[in-house]
Amino acid sequence: MSNCSLYIHIPFCASFCDYCDFYSVRLPPDSKAAARMINTYIDTLLAEGERLVRRFGVTSVPSVYIGGGTPSMLGAAGIIRLLRGLAVLLPPMPQQMSREFTVEANPESADEAFLAACRDNGVNRISLGVQSFCDASRRLVHRAGDAAPGVSMAALIPDRLKLVSEIFGGNFSADLIAGLPAQDETVLLRDIETLLSYRPAHVSLYALTVEEGTPLGDDPRFRQILPGADEADRLWIAGRDALEEAGYGQYEVSNFALTGKRSIHNIRYWRMENWLGLGAAASGSIFDDDAGTGRRFTYPADTGPWLDHKSGALIPVETEELDRLTLMKETFLMGFRSVEGPDPALFEKRFGVALEKAIPQALTKWRRRGLLQANKIALTKEGLLMLDPFLIDVFEEIE
Ligand code: SF4
Repeated sequence: MSNCSLYIHIPFCASFCDYCDFYSVRLPPDSKAAARMINTYIDTLLAEGERLVRRFGVTSVPSVYIGGGTPSMLGAAGIIRLLRGLAVLLPPMPQQMSREFTVEANPESADEAFLAACRDNGVNRISLGVQSFCDASRRLVHRAGDAAPGVSMAALIPDRLKLVSEIFGGNFSADLIAGLPAQDETVLLRDIETLLSYRPAHVSLYALTVEEGTPLGDDPRFRQILPGADEADRLWIAGRDALEEAGYGQYEVSNFALTGKRSIHNIRYWRMENWLGLGAAASGSIFDDDAGTGRRFTYPADTGPWLDHKSGALIPVETEELDRLTLMKETFLMGFRSVEGPDPALFEKRFGVALEKAIPQALTKWRRRGLLQANKIALTKEGLLMLDPFLIDVFEEIE
C-alpha cells in the first residue's frame, strides 16, 4: 500500500464546550508541566507515526490533518516540534505535487507565533474554529468565553481571522454552528457576513447536534434555551443559502468552498480512501480495493499510553474488520454526504457491481421524487437535507 492520508489527534482543550463529544483533556495550569506533557505526547506521536508508516509501507501522504481537541494549544514550540518530526518521518511528495496540510486552531490560542510556526513548517491551510461571533451564544454553551480578562471573544475573533488570512494568503477554513442558544436568523446571517468579509477559501456550517453524554444532551435546562428542531433547520438553511449566494458552493452536507478550494483531506474520507489515525481516540481505515473489505484501527480515548510510553512499547489499539456489507454501507453513508456521491469506478472495483445496479430501487424512488441529481448518482441539495431517510432505503435494499 502506498497512498495514505494522515489524521493526528491533539487531545487538549482549555475548557469543555457543552455540545462536544470529542475526546480531550485539560493541560495542567503550570506552564512547565503543560510543556512537559505536550512534548511527551508529541514524542510518542512521532515514534508511533514512524512505526505506522513502516508497518503500512506508506510511500505517499497526499493530505495531513492535525485536529483535536485544540491543536493551537500546543503553542509555537509544540507545533514546531511536531511538524519538524513529521517532516522527517513522512515520505516526500513527488515533484510538482503538493500535500494539503491542515492544522485546526481556536481563535483564543491561534496567535501570530503559532500561525507563523505552522506556515514556516509546511502547513498550507488553517481551519479556525470560530463557531459564533456572539458572546451570549458562546457563553451559554461554554465555548471559550473571554480571550483575556476584559477582552471578549467577539472582539478577538476578527483580529485572529485577519491574522490567519494574512499569514495563509486566504487559504483557510472557518467553522460556524447554526442552532446555538441566543442565535436567530439575523445573528447567524450577520456572523456569516462578518466571516466572509475575511474571504476564507472554505466554510463549514454545522447544525448543532445534541449528543447523549454531553451536557447539552443530558441537562434538561438546555431544552429551554435551544431552538426547536424546525427552527434549527430553518436557520441552517438560511445560512446555506447565504453562503451559496456569496459564491461558496456546497460540496458536502456541512461544507462549502470557493472554486478549487474543496478540502482534499475530507474528500478522501467521503470517498473512503486509506487514512491513518494517530493519537488518543484517533482512528484510521485501510481498504482492500480488490476484496471490498477493510480494517479500522482505533486508539482508545486515553492519553495514558501516550504520556507514559516506554521506548519500543506498543500503544494499545482496537482493530475492527470491515466485511463487504459493512464497507458497502459505509461507502454509501460517507459517499452520499458529498454532492459528487460515491465514486462509481472505485465502487465497482471494490464490490464488483456497478453503483446503479447495487441499489436500483432506492435510486428509482428518490429519482422520482426529484431528489437525485440528473447527471450523477448523488443527492441534490434538497436531497441532502433528507440523507437519513435516503440511507434507510439504501440499507434496507442491500441488507
Ligand atoms: S474546543 Fe473543540 S474539541 Fe475542545 S471541547 Fe470545544 S468543541 Fe470540543
